[in-house]
Amino acid sequence: MVIKPILERLFGRFYKEYDFVKKSYDVLKSFGFTYDNAIASVCVCRDEISQTVRSHVKRMWGEAFNFSSLAGLFTAGKTGMKAFISHAPQVDGKERYVFYAFSHIAIDENENLGVCKRKGLEKSHACGALCLFLNELSSKKISIRLDENDLEESILKRRLLREIPYGEIPDLLTLTKITLKVIKEDLENVIEKVVDPQKSDYAVFTGIQVHGPEENYIVPDEAYVVFNGEKKKLEI
Ligand SMILES: [Zn+2]
Repeated sequence: MVIKPILERLFGRFYKEYDFVKKSYDVLKSFGFTYDNAIASVCVCRDEISQTVRSHVKRMWGEAFNFSSLAGLFTAGKTGMKAFISHAPQVDGKERYVFYAFSHIAIDENENLGVCKRKGLEKSHACGALCLFLNELSSKKISIRLDENDLEESILKRRLLREIPYGEIPDLLTLTKITLKVIKEDLENVIEKVVDPQKSDYAVFTGIQVHGPEENYIVPDEAYVVFNGEKKKLEI
């Protein structure tokens, strides 16, 4: 695995995507979560190379509710969240929800961040939505108008600008980390407003999805379960 030393240096811990999802499933078993009694959701970029994680989640938990949007921003809001939790199995008087939320970045064998190959394309980029935003930021001419013909990208730009000090242009990796923070905050904000921890248990797994030259990885960030109303950090 040519990418391994690079990932270790950049991120420290990382897992192959399937291994991460399997670990998350196994760790939740001790809190009573199973395929039969829980519903999963995924919030990741729309990018087709990001969808592998949805396949792994499906294998563990069944078909997952899709919160995805450009760059993985959580934009489904209270209505999306209410729909998701209303689809959860009700077993033993309880509902169980699992949230996976990731930003993403590509990296090639020469450590070029943001660079990947795609079917029939020798050179492409991920996350394209973040690269576009960075280009606009570098040009010092950024439009923050809510463009009805480009809703997701304009919401993404507005939301990220709130997190970046005025005049600063982060590199792509820093922006990917900022995006993860934003996804997590926005998801948790809506969970807090909609989810009732008295009648449900839920778990949140966050991280960065990394597209290596051969396969995808997950760099884990915060993971926790809210079980019987109490938040507990999960080691993963
Ligand atoms: Zn993307």
